[in-house]
Amino acid sequence: MDYAAFYRRSIEERDVFWAEQARLIDWQRPFERVCNTDRPPFARWFEGGLTNLCHNAIDRHLATRADQPALIYVSTETDTERAYTFRELHVEVQRMAAMLRSLGVGKGDRVLIYMPMIPEAAFAMLACVRIGAIHSVVFGGFASHALATRIDDAAPKVIVSADAGMRGGKVVPYKPLLDEAIRLSTHKPERVLMVNRGLAALDPVEGRDVDYAALRQQHLDAQVPCEWVESDHPSYILYTSGTTGKPKGVQRDTGGYAVALAASMRHIYMANPGETFFSTSDIGWVVGHSYIIYGPLIHGMATLMYEGTPIRPDAGIWWRLVQGYRVSVMFTAPTAVRVLKKHDPAHLSRYDLSSLRALFLAGEPLDEPTASWIAQALGKPVIDNYWQTETGWPILALCNGVEQAPSKWGSPGRAVYGFDVCLLDELTGEEILEPGRKGVIAVRYPLPPGCLQTLWGDEARFVRTYWTYLRERWYYSTFDWGVRDPDGYYSILGRTDDVINVAGHRLGTREIEESIASHPAVAEVAVVGVADAVKGQVAVAFVVLKDPATAAHETDEQRLQAEMMATVERQLGAVAKPARVHLVPLLPKTRSGKLLRRAIQAVCEGRDPGDLSTLDDPSALQQIRALVSPP
Ligand code: AMP
Repeated sequence: MDYAAFYRRSIEERDVFWAEQARLIDWQRPFERVCNTDRPPFARWFEGGLTNLCHNAIDRHLATRADQPALIYVSTETDTERAYTFRELHVEVQRMAAMLRSLGVGKGDRVLIYMPMIPEAAFAMLACVRIGAIHSVVFGGFASHALATRIDDAAPKVIVSADAGMRGGKVVPYKPLLDEAIRLSTHKPERVLMVNRGLAALDPVEGRDVDYAALRQQHLDAQVPCEWVESDHPSYILYTSGTTGKPKGVQRDTGGYAVALAASMRHIYMANPGETFFSTSDIGWVVGHSYIIYGPLIHGMATLMYEGTPIRPDAGIWWRLVQGYRVSVMFTAPTAVRVLKKHDPAHLSRYDLSSLRALFLAGEPLDEPTASWIAQALGKPVIDNYWQTETGWPILALCNGVEQAPSKWGSPGRAVYGFDVCLLDELTGEEILEPGRKGVIAVRYPLPPGCLQTLWGDEARFVRTYWTYLRERWYYSTFDWGVRDPDGYYSILGRTDDVINVAGHRLGTREIEESIASHPAVAEVAVVGVADAVKGQVAVAFVVLKDPATAAHETDEQRLQAEMMATVERQLGAVAKPARVHLVPLLPKTRSGKLLRRAIQAVCEGRDPGDLSTLDDPSALQQIRALVSPP
């Protein structure tokens, strides 16, 4: 089919288009209205419809695929491989649902999931949506302070966790971090359900902690029917970083999300029911929600859930899994490919990759050398796609399931159906029509199904943060710079805000700054993202001490730097730890006191810092230049 016509229809005949896509999922009661736009910039998709995410992911496949694999679990950390059929997954999820109910969880209650990549994490997510509870998965790499902020915002009734995760052969105990987070938080969960993997010591808190295995024994025969919920009933909250230190709780609906994912599996990912999908992300990120758990299962596919790194036991592990499980579609981040690129390409040629149709990459900019290396090594199409936690599925991609289109390196492709994408001039807000001119990537109201409904508990922040009303129209801002070529292909030119992207992980520089500022010696701090050959970006901190004399000796300086890094690791987690901390006498600011983060970043990357006429004291930037320039 002609993609241009397909796309046009999705915008110009929006309701007809999406009503057709909505047939890809089951509705217990049909919807009456495709898109309610009565209260812009809010949009309600499939109003009046009743459905359930878990029913669409599991139950509806039982008639035809009960004995096909649904969840394939591989951990190279604990040497475990096991597959659950749709029937077995159905049983485990009902057990988990019964367990959550026994702990008092009902429709609309929040359940926070702080877990490593183990099947119980998937059971917990699916069990929540089965009973209409709202899950909030927090990435296992986050530490106490980051976790506590999320506990306070989501106010979960129950937390599901495990004794430990493992990474690169090292045990990472979760329980002490969780206990500390609950100590720090104002809201206290009633119960904590603990999966004991036997990796780390568990010190149960009387009256609060419940052992997963023991409680499961009581619910082995549980039958818990799906709770039919309104299409706009929240399915989950997923926190993401923004410009302030307070993370934003992206709230997703049920019906719109299910339809958007089901459609994307066909049109974008070219996947077929009965095949195996392998996304290497983590359930703590949006890709994990959409394309480890819900998308593949809704589409009747097996999903491969992997705990481990791409290079253990060797750099061929992923391709061994592709061969072994006949993976047809794979999804990873450019950072992982850059890691693999440092290893012997023979690791790739050793395996039979004939089942693989394409490799999709997202989460951070895909550079040309990385893309062409992996495309050549695999001999398969490598397809970039651009999206955000907020949107839940791609904004820009090649919809090769609709019509094959050529890839252009450096571009994630064209506007995806449903997204009325445009570029806005940063200063005037005018729409940029001519190709080749840089602007802010925006989407005209309404966002298609599957995107964030609002920010959890803060409608005002949702409107204020993302939406602008111009020329009698609402525009959603992605906070990314972009440029469009004459064929409608966009390229991403970095964030317009203070969000950085480290190895595909989205981090807010404000959060890291607040953490460093909690060190007693720190007067002021600026954190910027600096280009890195493997991770895309790394965080680099510039710190002004309250008393410069505390770092009079080199050893004092090193001790302080190490302490600040340890503070971030303890409070936020290893993912947020800066690669470098520099002590400086002052930070570059405008005369009105605004920190010039972009100028610092430019200097760190050896670029021209631009207009410095507003700079209060030029020596601040010169000192930074001297620090970061190679001698
Ligand atoms: P997250 O919400 O963690 O998925 O991060 C979203 C951000 O990652 C986007 O706003 C972009 O800045 C960046 N991003 C995601 N995918 C791509 C891509 N394919 N190319 C360039 N940047 C991307």
